Amino acid sequence: MSFSTVTVMDVPFIKATNQEFLTQLQTDIDQKKRRFIVTANPEIVLYAKDHPEYKAIIKAADYITPDGIGIIKAAQTIHQPLPERVTGYDTMVALLEKANTQHLRVYLLGAKPEVMAAVVTKVQQQYPGIDLVGYHDGYFKEDTQILADIHDKQPQLIFVGLGYPKQENWIKQNLTQAQAIWMGVGGSFDVLSGMTKRAPKVFQDAHLEWFYRLLKEPTRFKRMLAIPKFMWLMRKEKRA
Ligand code: UDP
Repeated sequence: MSFSTVTVMDVPFIKATNQEFLTQLQTDIDQKKRRFIVTANPEIVLYAKDHPEYKAIIKAADYITPDGIGIIKAAQTIHQPLPERVTGYDTMVALLEKANTQHLRVYLLGAKPEVMAAVVTKVQQQYPGIDLVGYHDGYFKEDTQILADIHDKQPQLIFVGLGYPKQENWIKQNLTQAQAIWMGVGGSFDVLSGMTKRAPKVFQDAHLEWFYRLLKEPTRFKRMLAIPKFMWLMRKEKRA
């Protein structure tokens, strides 16, 4: 691959700006490459640390991007800076814009049925140039029909929002079904649907998106402890 990487807790992140990454993805689309994108935040890195099988799966991805300020800070700590955050949500939206202008075939998988329905409406209105070849919510018991659909329609972009580790496990297992860009997008469909609001820009700019989410969804508190834990482990690793 054309990017060098910075390894944070044994996870290799691509050293690329959003623009550079999107340019590479455009080349991949043009050359009909099969690609697997993981956008990893501190929570995912910690999970991978404790789950070797999951770590092996994400390390098999073509691109792991730093999805969160925690990863950027960690890279600074080890004096191997990464240029900027490359988030799942921003990458998905940028790819949808490309798909709109280039009439690419897109498949969407994940989120609750009502969220996916809202996403489909939004995509049809906002990106009428997209060839939406299929979609399904993320609460299926059987994936035979979904896979048959993907195999049959050969989407060029496949967005999978099942949350980690499910989405990466599912992508890895089914990659061979289509020569596509496969990307895990976590809760991005919830945001795209408008049902979950992204933090206002002031919070984003102050790198306090996590704080906004905490205010909105206090039950995430336990999950969020991953960030300080991650920073603490990084410092410990650096001292060692
Ligand atoms: N989800 C799903 N199927 C499942 C479990 C979760 O489609 O079996 C969806 C869920 O509805 C949500 C997303 O996966 O849209 C996970 O969101 P979360 O905010 O937990 O993900 P993150 O962005 O933090 O990875």
